[in-house]
Amino acid sequence: MRVENCVFCEIISGTSPANFYHKDEQFVVFENNLHWYKVQLLLVPKNHMSQHKMWSSSGLIEELCMFANDIGKRECPDGYRIFSNFGDHGMQSQSHAHLQILGGARLGLYVNGRPPSNVSENMQQ
Ligand SMILES: [Zn+2]
Repeated sequence: MRVENCVFCEIISGTSPANFYHKDEQFVVFENNLHWYKVQLLLVPKNHMSQHKMWSSSGLIEELCMFANDIGKRECPDGYRIFSNFGDHGMQSQSHAHLQILGGARLGLYVNGRPPSNVSENMQQ
């Protein structure tokens, strides 16, 4: 299923460009065009769905996670991060479900390099 004005649906259908790393029947993997890290890949189901739907689809999420882990081990031998953003507080920028793989550099602790100060205080207790 393709959704109007969805960048990931446009990439999957070929109407928007991307550098693909992998394509199969269920999902595609392409480079994130932000290029903040040496390895910054997006694993995206071909069918438009929400993050919650993808994370609740037992066969699909299992395949995506296993594939992401294989990519991480192969492309980032010194370590990597696999994650999804959910909603406004999670800084989700695309409605189309996806996993992200970051690596090729020391990523720091959490997204901004350190947890919020109140969490840091709780960790010291
Ligand atoms: Zn979509």
